[in-house]
Amino acid sequence: LTAVRRLYRDAARQEVAALAGVDLAVRAGTFVAVMGPSGSGKSTLLQCAAGLDRPTSGSVEVGGTELTGLSERRLTLLRRDLIGFVFQAFNLIPSLTAAQNVALPLRLAGRRPSRTEVRDALARVGLADRARHRPGELSGGQQQRVALARALVSHPAVLFGDEPTGALDTGTSRQVLALLRGLVDGEGQTTVMVTHDPVAASYADRVVFLVDGLVASELHAPGAGAVAERMAELESGALRG
Ligand code: ATP
Ligand code: MG
Repeated sequence: LTAVRRLYRDAARQEVAALAGVDLAVRAGTFVAVMGPSGSGKSTLLQCAAGLDRPTSGSVEVGGTELTGLSERRLTLLRRDLIGFVFQAFNLIPSLTAAQNVALPLRLAGRRPSRTEVRDALARVGLADRARHRPGELSGGQQQRVALARALVSHPAVLFGDEPTGALDTGTSRQVLALLRGLVDGEGQTTVMVTHDPVAASYADRVVFLVDGLVASELHAPGAGAVAERMAELESGALRG
């Protein structure tokens, strides 16, 4: 991501610079956590990086492909191959089984998913035995793992998560984080995750701190204590400023 600048216009046409010169390169096969105060632009950064939103200026490149400037149609096609996305609120379809939810992105791409493909994706998140269960019959952690399998089924270049453990209790959250860490270590899955939890951030190789739409600071393979300390410093600085 090079110097992404995103301006939002509200009804009164006041401009808000959600991002103002973010310059961030994520090395393939690594796990990056994005932290920062509420409103600092974390979600906007992820949406721009995933091609779900367009920056007003600047550029976004994923896996060597420049996303900015592509037509909507071309972007949609590319997103299917390049991007996986999980959200805080799982966003599974309640009437579909786990397997059907996982197969959905392939079906939307006009493909007929093979049983092995879907089974493999569920196996990667440790849920091979829950293929026929509906979301309502699964725990929160299991639902998020189904959402992960759905994001991973097309083997995306980058997995993005916006507070993927935000709705989970501490123990379940750690299980999902260990799973993400395992995907990075075992399969080289490039992962970018927004979180406000210092323990969650400590699972990453690198923690990037956004303040007012800019990368204000970063830490490499920090412990949770160091992350919490840096957040506190930035927040007090941001409040003073
Ligand atoms: P949080 O931790 O609360 O989720 P965040 O860091 O994800 O915050 P963003 O959602 O990226 O923050 O918002 C960054 C800025 O852009 C904020 O000032 C927000 O009010 C503004 N913003 C976000 N989405 C829109 C939108 N659709 N229209 C107008 N302004 C927006
Ligand atoms: Mg957000």
